[in-house]
Amino acid sequence: MQRLKSHVCGEWFEGAGAPSELLNPATGEILATTSTEGMDLAAVLEHARTVGGPTLRDMTFAQRGALLQAMSTILHAHREDLIALAIANGGNTRKDAKFDIDGAWQTLAYYAHLGKTLGDKRYLVDGDIEQLGRNPRWAGEHIHTPLEGVAVHINAYNFPAWGFAEKAATALLAGMPVVTKPATSTALVAARAMELFVEADVFPAGTFSMICGGAHALLDHVGPQDVVAFTGGSATARRMREGGRVVQDNVRLNIEADSLNAAVLGPDVDTDSEVYVLFIDHVFTEMTQKTGQKCTAIRRILVPESLLEPVKEDLLERINELVVGDPSLENVRMGPLVSASQHASVLAGLTALEEDADRVEGIAPKSLEGIEEGKGYFVTPVLLQARDSLNAGAVNRVEVFGPVSTLLPWSGDPDEASAILRAGGGGLVASIYSDDRAFTSAVVRGSASHFGRLFLAHSKVAGMVTAPGTVLPQMVHGGPGRAGGGEELGGIRGLTHYMARTALQGYRPILERDFDGS
Ligand code: NAP
Repeated sequence: MQRLKSHVCGEWFEGAGAPSELLNPATGEILATTSTEGMDLAAVLEHARTVGGPTLRDMTFAQRGALLQAMSTILHAHREDLIALAIANGGNTRKDAKFDIDGAWQTLAYYAHLGKTLGDKRYLVDGDIEQLGRNPRWAGEHIHTPLEGVAVHINAYNFPAWGFAEKAATALLAGMPVVTKPATSTALVAARAMELFVEADVFPAGTFSMICGGAHALLDHVGPQDVVAFTGGSATARRMREGGRVVQDNVRLNIEADSLNAAVLGPDVDTDSEVYVLFIDHVFTEMTQKTGQKCTAIRRILVPESLLEPVKEDLLERINELVVGDPSLENVRMGPLVSASQHASVLAGLTALEEDADRVEGIAPKSLEGIEEGKGYFVTPVLLQARDSLNAGAVNRVEVFGPVSTLLPWSGDPDEASAILRAGGGGLVASIYSDDRAFTSAVVRGSASHFGRLFLAHSKVAGMVTAPGTVLPQMVHGGPGRAGGGEELGGIRGLTHYMARTALQGYRPILERDFDGS
């Protein structure tokens, strides 16, 4: 059986002691083990700061971009190998696995290109030089320079490739060394990617390290120039905020937590229209892709009362056609949840939702394709309907991280839709399906403060959009409130999370000549 290694302080590290096990969630087979016991976490972070940091800061954006391009090229070249690992260790269908792995190399390629565009500069200039007094010689500008610590990246289990790649892309391009920690249960994909990077000698010493296994004491060793970027559940996020040296040292902490994302169907939409077809397709995709284990999955479906019956019927038809089972089989469209604990958590979450919602009848019981009875952590999709959409309690509070979504019927009034959207307490994404500009605009104004991203579906773009759960490197990802309050990506904006913004006040010709980012 494979024993995973970490790559830290410029070398491979194999932990002692009782290891954690990595399973195939469809069969329960143990695929690999890993341990971090005996790892000197303080030394790991210090190596990155002192060895990797100066090297990266000395490189231009174009050179850092070339590093990202090398990572992207390797992931792309070994795509099939990585897809097979994601199917085995993540319970992913081939399509689910591609979503993660293609997202990883494409995001790296996007930032590699941005690095090329930024060229031979090493830091960013923020905005124009402004005159500060009567005399134009006295002026000010803002610059972003890379922080001199280490970027500590802690990722969730559901995106083992994209998760580390999207965070690494922005930090490395900004000029900060990275220590990344994939979630232990699905670390096979990231561990293999690290092996490939090391074999190809992609990284200058200390610029990129990976810890495979629990390293929950990491935050005891962070300092004031470090950045911690965390993706995971809100309970873990709370521990992060209060843990280690985060508070004492005012460590920058970016949190991407869970979210009760929503889709809103406009009252103007005709069931024969392209927007309607898109809506049904997106809701079904977001409910079942990666077995609903996506931070951006649609959990709440706002449907005008007048359209409730056709929507139910059309969703049930799609759900009933879904083949669930062994994700390595070609005809299977949905695999298992990732672990026994995730399975238990989904069942508990469902019980909580049922306090305020009823299961929609009509979902055919599923036999599992290619699975021995009693094996694997399977659940079948569940569609619920809230009893009182404005006061739906658990539906607006509990994230069930599985193929579970709730219909919330409402009057068709945009203000009421906005109030329901806001009741989720802050989310990553909401999507609005309507050709009525006044409706869309009213919902945007009524809910934008509560979402990191709003997806405006319209018949004019129906043939060209990716589903709302797809996170694009050009656009920011994150959200206020329960979504963690963090932000990532968004093109060049993503770099500034790893940089200090400094105001420079001085003699204009010096600002112009000496502080242009070079
Ligand atoms: P999790 O249990 O919160 O774990 C996330 C990561 O934190 C793992 O790498 C875990 O390591 C690590 N960790 C746990 N306790 C720690 C500690 N005290 N110190 C340092 N690291 C610690 O989340 P998950 O079950 O992997 O992921 C599911 C959740 O993530 C869902 O709630 C989902 O909504 C959220 N999510 C959010 C986004 C987003 O972008 N907003 C994206 C994906 C997922 P071990 O695995 O070694 O325990």
